[in-house]
Amino acid sequence: MSISRRRTLLKVVILGDSGVGKTSLMNQYVHNKFSQQYKATIGADFVTKEIQMEDRLVTLQIWDTAGQERFQSLGVAFYRGADCCVLVYDVNVLKSFDTLDNWHDEFLKQANPVDPSSFPFILLGNKVDIDGGNSRVVSEKKAKEWCLSRGNIPYFETSAKEAYNVDAAFLCVAKTALANE
Ligand code: GDP
Ligand code: MG
Repeated sequence: MSISRRRTLLKVVILGDSGVGKTSLMNQYVHNKFSQQYKATIGADFVTKEIQMEDRLVTLQIWDTAGQERFQSLGVAFYRGADCCVLVYDVNVLKSFDTLDNWHDEFLKQANPVDPSSFPFILLGNKVDIDGGNSRVVSEKKAKEWCLSRGNIPYFETSAKEAYNVDAAFLCVAKTALANE
């Protein structure tokens, strides 16, 4: 008897304002590392992580920006063929929440998926560890309302620093992207 082991490659892009923790979330997920230092991402266009999901070996190919998000000029290769878009904001910075609409719309415009209304997005509210939550300016309720208004996007509150909810969020990314295949 042979066991079927299907391999699946999923392209994931991470978008959101500069400084919200996109690179940190990716590093925490892929390398289990966190750095307090702020450095613009350099080097590879993407990193990969393999996860076993039932009978499938899924390779998540995660594309991070290299600081160009400040100018909203990411180039078509960044968006092309994406299977899931992870939007990130900082729960302590209102502006990073207010710009989510722009990132969402920019993604759909650039990636131009076949069915925009069912394309899988995930929203992460990051840095919930800061000041024990006392400096947050965007409530979970407000974030969930935005998600609902945008077609019921799954929402996770995360801390890249404390590795809180990071694995759960990316597992959801993989599941949602697979379901949309
Ligand atoms: P990016 O510009 O979106 O890629 O953001 P970075 O990942 O470079 O993070 C910006 C800064 O925020 C860095 O100094 C990180 O160490 C810090 N940072 C990222 N995530 C968290 C978090 O969950 N909690 C805290 N306290 N700091 C974070
Ligand atoms: Mg970065």
